[in-house]
Order: sequence, then C-alpha cells, then structure tokens
Amino acid sequence: MKNIYFDYAATTPIDPVVLKEMSFYLTKEFGNAGSLHFFGQKAMRALDLSREKIAKLIGADFKEIIFTSGATEANNLALRGVFFKFKKLNPEIKPKIIISSIEHESVLETARNLENYGAKVIYLKVNQYGLIDLKQFKKELDKNTILVSIMYANNEIGTIEPIKKISQIIINFKKEYNLNYPFFHTDASQAFQFLDCNVLNLGIDLMTLSSHKIYGPKGIGVLYIKKEIQNYIDPQITGGGQEFNLRSGTENIAAIAGFSKAIELSFNLRQQEFKRIYDLRNYFWEKIKLILKDIKLNQNPNFKNTLPNILNIYFPGKNSSELITKFDLAGIAISSGSACNARSSESSRVLLSCGYNKDRAMQSLRFSFGKFTKKQDIDKALSFIKIMKL
Ligand code: PMP
Repeated sequence: MKNIYFDYAATTPIDPVVLKEMSFYLTKEFGNAGSLHFFGQKAMRALDLSREKIAKLIGADFKEIIFTSGATEANNLALRGVFFKFKKLNPEIKPKIIISSIEHESVLETARNLENYGAKVIYLKVNQYGLIDLKQFKKELDKNTILVSIMYANNEIGTIEPIKKISQIIINFKKEYNLNYPFFHTDASQAFQFLDCNVLNLGIDLMTLSSHKIYGPKGIGVLYIKKEIQNYIDPQITGGGQEFNLRSGTENIAAIAGFSKAIELSFNLRQQEFKRIYDLRNYFWEKIKLILKDIKLNQNPNFKNTLPNILNIYFPGKNSSELITKFDLAGIAISSGSACNARSSESSRVLLSCGYNKDRAMQSLRFSFGKFTKKQDIDKALSFIKIMKL
C-alpha cells in the first residue's frame, strides 16, 4: 500500500512549483544580497520581490516583513524583542505578558523563560474547545501589560481564536488610557492557508508565519512588525544589520523566494482548499465513528471556530503511541499532537488545558489533512481501521 500522510499540521511537502523557484536561486542566482556585484544585485532583487509579494498578500508594507529562520524564531523575536526593549526603556516597571495556555511551545516556553528576567506572565485558560474567554482576558489587561500573544489557530485541535475581537479590546483599552502598549502578537503559522491574514483587518501589531506549513521549505518564516512599533523591538540576533537591523544574518534567498511562492499559491487556493479539505475531514469523521463506536471528538462537535484540516480524536483505553505505531506499520502517518514534543511520552498539554483528564490526553490522536490528500486516501485508511479492529 502507498504510504498515506495525515500529518500536514506537523509539516508539508514542498510544492513542485516552489521547488522550481528555489532551485534557480540555489544554483544560478546564488549571490549574497549584501554584495555589490551582479550576483549580489540579483539576490537583492529576489529578496525585494519576495518581501514585496508577502507584504502585499497580508496587507503590510515592504519594511514590515522581517525574515527569520521559522516561526519559532519569529515568536522569540516578538516576545523577547518587545520585552527586552521595554525593560531598557522602563526599568522600574514589572512588565506583564498575556498569552493563552495552549500556545505553541515557541511562545509558551519563551514567555516562561522571560519570567526569569522579571516578566509577569498570565496564561489564559481555555474552554473545552480551546477558546479563550474574552471576559477573563479583558480583566487581565492593565497598564503594565506590554504584550498579548494569542495564536490565530491551534496546531493540535485547530481552534480559531477570536483575533479581531481581541484586537478591538486592546485598541479600546489603549484609547481609554492613552497608552501605546500593549502590542498584540498572533502566531498565524497554522492559520495562513485557510484564514484571512490581512494585518489591517485583524488589527494586529505582530504576526508570525511559517513556510513549511504551507508547502514551502523548512527553516524560513516571517515576523510581521508594524512600522510604528519597530523602534520598540530589540533585535535578538545582531550582526551585519540585515532585515532593517531587526534580524542579522545572510538572507537565505532560495528559501525566501520559495516561501513567497508558497504564500502566493496558498493565498490563491485558500477558499477552494478550505472547502475541499473541510469536506474530506468531515467525511472521515462521519465514517470513522460508525466503525469505532466509543471514540470521541476533542473539538467543537460542529467544528465551529475550527480549522478545516484538523481532526483530534479520543480513542478510549488506547495508548496514542501504540496507535501511532500500528498506523505507521500500515503506512499511515499520524501523530498525537505537536511534533515538537512527540518523542516525549507526556500527554498532550493542549488537551490537558482544555480540561480533559490525563488518560484522555494520552489516548488521543491528531489526523491532519492537506493539499495532496485525496478521498481514496481516506477510504484506504478507513478500510484499514475496519480490519485492524483498533
Ligand atoms: N507555531 C505553531 C502554531 C506551529 O504549529 C509551529 C510548528 N509546529 C510553530 C510555531 C513552529 O514553527 P517552525 O517549525 O517554523 O519553527
């Protein structure tokens, strides 16, 4: 049987069109964008065009796009950058950072780490379906709050957080007290391919994107930083002053060009893919629950406020790592949640935060679908599940 990949939320294969774009910059126009000669100029032009394209697709300005080595670094730059600059400007104040308790590790662990440097971090609780409570959020906002970081869509259960409502609350709060803080950051790594990521529509100050979640290469990402707040960010990687002095290091032109192509393709396919994958995911769920009567959904029962590509299921009494191995032996790749901690045998932190008990958090699997998933793949997996008697 051909291998079936149901782990698109962990990473995606590179689209052939993206690969073609990249190989040109790896082999032919390989220059350093900092060099003055012909090769350097070509590289700089590719960098400019890529930046321009990404800026346009998210409603930003050219100078607001900062390339990083991925979403992890972009999230670090957002949190550390804002925190350390604020500390420098206001050493007497204990800064407060508000995040949700289901953020990706790159936000959660960074916020935790900043506690060591004097940050007060609020970890907002979420409901059973992973949604933050806007009333609780409002209560937590105060004059010492310098940053709010709430993910746009969760990578394990696909919950879409109310970003526009959060930004409106922050905008009103700042107006009321005549403050320029807090800044609002959202990690849109999982959201971009399905949801509107126009920064003006969202009303945000900082936004993280990752290339390898949208059929681009690994190791490249973007932090959108609104012009008006760029002076309030401390660079975390210093050196030659690339990326408008906010992130030094020779630009990876092939990866950047590939990423901008991937963003363009993803943007153009957004509505179409949303519907196609939504139907496939729902079809899989309708069928699998007829085969395995006791399984339960770890998501909103109608998939309200949920990404179309993620299905997170509780298999009572079945250990998730054993299930993953069984599926793997049958050529079906799935996971129990975040790939970042898949090798540890801990239960899913996200499911625990949603209020599920340890057993349920240890006995759940994430199926995630993507561009190359076909109905035949789902049917094959269903027949395997039927035979296997999980
Ligand atoms: N944020 C989210 C929501 C993610 O899903 C991931 C990838 N698992 C990351 C951040 C980290 O992305 P990267 O691999 O580009 O560092």
